[in-house]
Amino acid sequence: MKYFLTTAIDFVNSKPHLGTAYEKITADIIARYRRLAGFETHFLMGNDEHSQNVFKKAAEQGKDPLAYCDEMEQVFRDVWTRLDLSFDDFIRTTDRKRHFPAVQKMAQACLDNGDIYEGAYEGWYCDGCESFKPEKDLVEGRCPIHKTKPQWIKEKNWFFRLSKYQPALLKHYADNPSFIEPEIRRNEILRLVEGGLEDISMSRAGQSWGIPVPFDPTSVVYVWFDALINYAAAVGYGWDDEQFNKWWPASLHIVGKDITRFHCVIWPAMLMSAKVALPAQVFGHGWVYFKGERMSKTMGNIVDPLDAADRFGPDPLRLYLAKEIPYGGDGDFTWERFEEKYNADLANNLGNLVNRVASMTERYQQGRVKATGGGALAGIAAESVASYRASMDRHALHEGAASAFRLVSAANNYIAETQPWSLAKDPAKADQLNGVLADTAEAVRIAATLLSPIMPTASTEILRRMGDDRPSKDRRLDVDTAWRTSGERQILNAGALWPRIEAEKGVTVTEENKAGQAGEAGRAGEPVTQGTPAAPATAPAAVVPPAQPAPPAQPAVITIDDFAKIELKTAKVLEAERMPKSQRLLKLKVDAGEAEPRTILAGLAESYEPEALIGKSIVIVANLAPRKMMGLESQGMVLAASGETGPAFVLNSEPAPPGTRVR
Ligand SMILES: [Zn+2]
Repeated sequence: MKYFLTTAIDFVNSKPHLGTAYEKITADIIARYRRLAGFETHFLMGNDEHSQNVFKKAAEQGKDPLAYCDEMEQVFRDVWTRLDLSFDDFIRTTDRKRHFPAVQKMAQACLDNGDIYEGAYEGWYCDGCESFKPEKDLVEGRCPIHKTKPQWIKEKNWFFRLSKYQPALLKHYADNPSFIEPEIRRNEILRLVEGGLEDISMSRAGQSWGIPVPFDPTSVVYVWFDALINYAAAVGYGWDDEQFNKWWPASLHIVGKDITRFHCVIWPAMLMSAKVALPAQVFGHGWVYFKGERMSKTMGNIVDPLDAADRFGPDPLRLYLAKEIPYGGDGDFTWERFEEKYNADLANNLGNLVNRVASMTERYQQGRVKATGGGALAGIAAESVASYRASMDRHALHEGAASAFRLVSAANNYIAETQPWSLAKDPAKADQLNGVLADTAEAVRIAATLLSPIMPTASTEILRRMGDDRPSKDRRLDVDTAWRTSGERQILNAGALWPRIEAEKGVTVTEENKAGQAGEAGRAGEPVTQGTPAAPATAPAAVVPPAQPAPPAQPAVITIDDFAKIELKTAKVLEAERMPKSQRLLKLKVDAGEAEPRTILAGLAESYEPEALIGKSIVIVANLAPRKMMGLESQGMVLAASGETGPAFVLNSEPAPPGTRVR
């Protein structure tokens, strides 16, 4: 079973924003799901470089366009790596070994089939879209997407006979009802094609940035005709038949709803003309809006996906995008909503569950559980697995995520109902206690397996705590989501996974600290151990605080007493190393004049080589609640002045000995 999926390739004239990241993250979830389901999966991403906007941007910066594209490739790859995207291949349209021969072969094949002819073109051309806009699509004379006035362009072009393919396309849509998903896009495309198709320009005259038209070297292939071919080029079209035959046709193209037309009309017509098989499916996802506006550079309302990923790691962002936006429709991103869902799903529900299982198992059974027959939870798990699979198979990622969380909520309720802390008081109920803990741990294990395509890092960590430390590539959906009725395993109690966000303060605090502040002890006899969230045991998901209004932009004034609560200390850096998989974080071991050195994770990696920090004196916030980042606990924070050129240390003069209070 093979599965080849692709995402749209991106123009590189600006770096990715949350809207771009949304597509890649959801595609990554589908790719990981297919791997988990046992498919041999090939996940392709890439960059679209033959754009006049890229050419202009490079010229503005006084750079050679190719050198500029090389730099941007690193920018894009860096963002994608930090969002934990598992692409198998990354193609660039300036790739001379793969993409050039593919484009030239397909252009020639369309010409040989009589589908390319010479003509003159005039019309409205939007630079932002890099395409001609029919008069009827303009709103008050402007591009509806870019809100700019298009240019009237008249030039000699080569044309592709798209009009000829209207009947063949309509037949293909009728014979293959799942070719275009979701249904709203299918209906749009059907209406468009039924209304008749015009031939399209496939070349631009008098430009140098692009792939030369094989039968007319004075022209380059038009950027859209060029870009679409990347999907076939990457897997060998025009340069490696064996590889091409292995992977083509693609199983799924994932694209934004604004470019579904290119992928469902022009691309299949090009493939028909070149006598190449059509992809099995095109999925047109919706847009992520920020406070009701589409995120775009021109609109100036970009959310940097890395801001979200840097705060809590990529998993909470991935979960939010998958679970809160019905896949195929539009959705909203606001920080308030993001924090609300983080607290509800992760801190209070899943994170709480993992901690409760681990801490009670540690306390009552030295961390050991022995699987039993499986009670009510086993049935709920089986239902969750079935609805998860059905949803994920049709790319309903939001429903898949919700199915997994139904099992998480059921397990939390099960604990509340069975009250293991009461069972633990009666030695005669030891078997019953073990049964409850084993069943809950089993539910956690299955839920984490279901969530692994969505939250790969967290799921791996949860599974490790539940006694399964195999790499994710060794897991299979059918085997690993079946309820296990025998076997014994060791559960690890390793602290809070997701500290709650306190909306009113805009800071994260660890749960043990919060419980301490509130002066709370265990309720209903449930032990409070390190990392046990202070959520009521009976209804873990119901304690979400109402969303708070965004904090005022004005910095609040604090009193000298407030300041005195912050313990600033000098510290000396003993060790420094890069955190694997993080471009920003360094792991520091510092001497703060205490019995033991502290470990602090600091976002300094983009400004300092780790070696350069060893022996340096710094200032730390010593009484900041410990924070979990990328699986490690950071015990404090480094004070640094952050400016355009990156962070710089506050302490430059001759330092006081480690541990000196700074005031
Ligand atoms: Zn436009």
